[in-house]
Parts: sequence; structure tokens; C-alpha cells
Amino acid sequence: MEAGVIARRGFILILSSPSGAGKTTLTRAVAADPKWGLDLSISVTTRQRRPSEIDGKHYQFIDREAFDALRSADNLLEWAEVHGNFYGTPRRPVEKVLGAGRDMIFDIDYQGTRQVRAKLADDVVTVFILPPSLAELRHRLERRAEDSPDTIEKRLANARLEIQRWSEYDYVIVNDDLDDAFRSLEGILIAERLKRARRTGLTTFVEGLLAEPD
Ligand code: 5GP
Repeated sequence: MEAGVIARRGFILILSSPSGAGKTTLTRAVAADPKWGLDLSISVTTRQRRPSEIDGKHYQFIDREAFDALRSADNLLEWAEVHGNFYGTPRRPVEKVLGAGRDMIFDIDYQGTRQVRAKLADDVVTVFILPPSLAELRHRLERRAEDSPDTIEKRLANARLEIQRWSEYDYVIVNDDLDDAFRSLEGILIAERLKRARRTGLTTFVEGLLAEPD
């Protein structure tokens, strides 16, 4: 791919949305496609593991004491309390990936997004995923059937608050159809990889072009 030939700085692609809007599905799909060469950030969380989740793949499930220890040792790039549980992004893997000029994808909430943007500014691209309607959001949470009715109500109440953060993001995708949303996300990746400011190899490339004989 053209954008891959010329050296550039890596960036962090952040996806946020209320639970059930499809952000996790989209994040996992794009990270699993080798064409995009994206590393997925695996967060730590104090939340209970859902039956379908695998420790170390979906999250690193840890207790509150371990979480506090990571936080005090400054081992988390960002962290937040969401729906009564703690979540955080381990710092080391991010530094490694960006240092190698590769890109990383994060599935984190708006509080974490603010912290990452404050620290890494130009190396962050943010995408907010909206559901087509709140009724559809409820339907998706109920169909997923992985959370108790209580938890679903808590997540729906929070959804209204989370949706209001949409305007802090660079891009907004309404996830009406998963394939369309996926294509939009790919479009964002392509465009962001072509951004002049992060393509550090362009100067040398253009010098080479101009040094060619007529
Ligand atoms: P869930 O419990 O449904 O997996 O995630 C709940 C919320 O926490 C989602 O909005 C998800 O994006 C967010 N989240 C997951 N990992 C992190 C993280 O490391 N940091 C922050 N700030 N939010 C996270």
C-alpha cells in the first residue's frame, strides 16, 4: 500500500461509544485484519469477566489492589472508572508500537480519550460510534444477553450521558449497518495514514524524486 512505503510516525486510533453501539465489534474486526497492521491495546479492568471473554485477549482481568499498584507506578497511560469498575491502558505496549512507527487501536471511554489526547495530541485520531437509535441500543444489549437486567439499565442510563461526548471526537460514525461502519473506519485509516504531518519520510522521498535525471 502506498502509505506504507514512506516512513511515518505511528498514531493511536481511539474508538468510543456507549456500550452496545458496536464499537468493540468494529475494533476487533479491524484489528484482526492483517491488511491494516494495527495492534490492539488490551486494557486492564477490575470488572467481572463475561462468559464469552478470555483473560489476556479481551482484557486483563485484575483486582482492585493490582489496579491501584499499576496506577501508582505510572504504568497506565490513562485510566477511568466506568459503570463502577476501573479500566486502564498499560503504557509499555503503546510506547513500543508507536516507537516502531506502527499504529494502535484503543476501545476506551471519553474520560480516557481526554487523557490520551492531552498526552499525545497529534498522534491521536478519535472516532465516536453512535447507535442509529436508543431503542436499537437497548435491543442490542438485550440480545447480547451477557449482562444482568440491572446492568443493562445502568448502561442505558449511562448511554445518554456518553452520547453527549460526541462533539469531542474527530470523526463520528452512525452504526446502522456493520459493513458500512467498517468501510467508514477503513476510510478514516487510509486518510490518516496519508496525512503529510506524520509522514516523516516524505522529505527524503521527494528529494529522491527531484534528484532523478530528466
Ligand atoms: P465493557 O465493560 O462493556 O467492556 O466496557 C465499558 C466501557 O469501558 C466501554 O466504553 C469501554 O470503551 C471502556 N473501556 C474499556 N477499556 C478501557 C480503558 O482501558 N480505559 C478507559 N478509559 N475506558 C475503557
